[in-house]
Amino acid sequence: MEDQELIDKLVKHELKFHELEQHVDAKKATELRRRTLEVLTGKKLQDISVFSLDAERAVKANIENLIGAAQVPLGVAGPVQVRGDFADGLYHLPLATTEGALVASVNRGCTAINKSDGAASFVIKDGMARAPVLKARNISHAKEALAFLEHNTAKLKEITESTSKFLKFKEIQSWVVGRNLFLRFVFKTGDAMGMNMATIATDKAVKFLESETGLKHVALSGNVCVDKKSSALNLIQGRGKTVISEVVLTREVIKQVLKTSPESMADIVYRKCLLGSALAASYGFNAQFANVIAAIFIATGQDAAHVVEGSQGFTTAELTEEGDLLFSVTIPSLQVGTVGGGTALGTQREALELIGVHGAGEPPGSNALKFAEIVGAAVLAGEISLIGALGARHLAEAHVKLNR
Ligand code: NAP
Repeated sequence: MEDQELIDKLVKHELKFHELEQHVDAKKATELRRRTLEVLTGKKLQDISVFSLDAERAVKANIENLIGAAQVPLGVAGPVQVRGDFADGLYHLPLATTEGALVASVNRGCTAINKSDGAASFVIKDGMARAPVLKARNISHAKEALAFLEHNTAKLKEITESTSKFLKFKEIQSWVVGRNLFLRFVFKTGDAMGMNMATIATDKAVKFLESETGLKHVALSGNVCVDKKSSALNLIQGRGKTVISEVVLTREVIKQVLKTSPESMADIVYRKCLLGSALAASYGFNAQFANVIAAIFIATGQDAAHVVEGSQGFTTAELTEEGDLLFSVTIPSLQVGTVGGGTALGTQREALELIGVHGAGEPPGSNALKFAEIVGAAVLAGEISLIGALGARHLAEAHVKLNR
């Protein structure tokens, strides 16, 4: 069919947007959907039409009904010096955002970190969770099923690990509510963030449990995962990578770079991040984790909805005996990968390459761990800068200058 004929059919609803790829290739389908929308709305979609990503690849794994790309400005902060188990050196930080002042803020935090001998940054826990809910006949049946689980852990490990070359079974946590079983399967997923891998592996385990125990599958996600929602569970237990990053900021560096004092910063962290967040019953005991995580996630092809979990965590600031400031961040649930998801798309791949972490690590998993340590240091830089700006009363001025 000719282009115009296809557009006419789309306008008349004789053909659906998602059926276009049956007639033309992904790039042409993208153009025809856009042109149809222009006819339907009378609006020119000029900017949406300009993109370099590989449409064929994107429609296979990343998007349906592709019409173009949403461009987000990409800036760079750093480099920041990181001293971790996997990251060791200076790393540039690609940040995609529309919030003026964010890149400048992280950049200033990087300067403070670099002048203080770099950030220590480590992953202390690693495990992606998927938690189905299953229904037993009654509470006795639920109790029997729990016993079955306990005796068949090795079999469940074998079943789940058979679904991937890289997935490693860690544990199954369980909760019973009435006759309902919530089973939280936790896996290591190599260099992938792992949500698809964990879901596929858990599905196979659930099928086995149904056939062996008579439990009834209700939903492959019973919300105890807890995927893309804020939760005390993930704050306490972690999900994905649990990252800690720390630096000792000397009084001199704080004065020179941040124009404030260690006392002022420690006081703000206590009253704002700890007391204020407790008062609001917020799980974000921090200043702006979400800002830095969202910008890095968008730049590097991570699942942006996981910013919800990444936004949870703690910032601490304590005066040392020497009068300097021990400053740290703890991010319990950071979901990152260097393979899979959106990491293979053009600009996202380049952003990961710019950091030096694209693709599979050797040994598997080491690249994602390195990336997580670097993200931890970036979040630390963002926290230092914002708490410093609040101490120096520069926050409003910076936004007037850079964000209006
Ligand atoms: P994925 O792209 O689905 O899977 C990763 C793939 O990379 C697997 O095929 C894996 O091999 C392969 N691989 C090659 N080298 C690897 C290495 N070194 N380490 C790990 N894997 C390696 O990615 P995913 O991280 O599991 O899932 C991410 C996607 O899930 C994102 O697009 C996200 O938006 C989406 N998501 C899904 C759900 C869900 O419920 N399914 C929920 C939230 C988000 P094998 O085939 O041998 O495993």
